[in-house]
Amino acid sequence: MSNNICFSCGSPSDVGVKILDNFLCGECEAAIVKTGVEEDDYQKWIRICRELWDEQLINTLKEE
Ligand SMILES: [Zn+2]
Repeated sequence: MSNNICFSCGSPSDVGVKILDNFLCGECEAAIVKTGVEEDDYQKWIRICRELWDEQLINTLKEE
């Protein structure tokens, strides 16, 4: 079963990681790992992760 939808590429996948409540498929995870720190993609990923993190914190604060 593929209940997980990757937040990056939108594909359903069984293999991947959960970043907070967001699923990241194995392919995208591998892409991040391969991306060097000097590449723009890396900055993009950091930004996405931060946005997800902020969103999660806001949701958490709202619930409490
Ligand atoms: Zn993906």
